[in-house]
Amino acid sequence: MRVKTFWRVLGFFCLLCHAQPLWAVSIPLPVEGQLWPYADQPGFQSDDALNLLCLAQSYPDIQGLEQTDEGLWLVLTGGRRVLYAGERAGEHDYLDVDVRTSMEQPYRCEPERPGTPPGYAPGRRRCYGLLMALYGGNAREVAQRLMSIHALGQTWAFAPQAARAFLRAAAVIEQKLLLQPELARWLKSSGTFLWRRIAGEKVLSAHSFGIAFDIGLACGATYWRWSSLQSHPLQQTFSPLLVRAFEDAGFIWGGKWHEFDLMHFEYRPELICKAKRRARGQTP
Ligand SMILES: [Zn+2]
Repeated sequence: MRVKTFWRVLGFFCLLCHAQPLWAVSIPLPVEGQLWPYADQPGFQSDDALNLLCLAQSYPDIQGLEQTDEGLWLVLTGGRRVLYAGERAGEHDYLDVDVRTSMEQPYRCEPERPGTPPGYAPGRRRCYGLLMALYGGNAREVAQRLMSIHALGQTWAFAPQAARAFLRAAAVIEQKLLLQPELARWLKSSGTFLWRRIAGEKVLSAHSFGIAFDIGLACGATYWRWSSLQSHPLQQTFSPLLVRAFEDAGFIWGGKWHEFDLMHFEYRPELICKAKRRARGQTP
């Protein structure tokens, strides 16, 4: 009996050893207009200052940064930690990466419609740890937080952060529709929240987190797996006015991916922040 107790205590101690990093250093997040002195330190990359500034501005839940033997971690409200950069990146699936990798490819905002060669799909690789920390770890948790909003003549269900952003875009679009009422048919929703995997992939769709919506299906917007085209004409012609309004509110468009998803808009304000600052030459 005493031997059993010894092994149980030892097992518990070892569990603690693995659960806790050997060391952890708190690092302040970059602040607007101030030099961030960590850019040249070991473990950091040149994009980190801009990435972290945009993350902190986009998600108020992100409170700090910690460096451990495993890498760099975002510290969120309540002490939750999400891997910003570390060796575990891409361990589970090529589409499930650490936060730094999810921000690596430059998204380009309107009026830019860059070519989409194989491998170019900014925002299609996501950090699922961050999405779960921000919006909920399972269907029930996400669903409990959803907000139902009425805009553009329909009802939409979004995570609160995405709902507020969508209402900002909708207010701009309502005004534009007065002059271009023919655009209204492009705005018919074919889905917002649904806990499901991406068609043909192992990872969850952004729709699972209440941050995505699909429009334009009846107007010919389609998905790369449903189309025989390598690139689709709508990647160049989809209404710039609509794409711009959604981008300005923090949504990226799946039409700018090699694996195009012309219906799909997704709330990723950190990518829009980075794209706009890059375009203006405004880096921390
Ligand atoms: Zn979608």
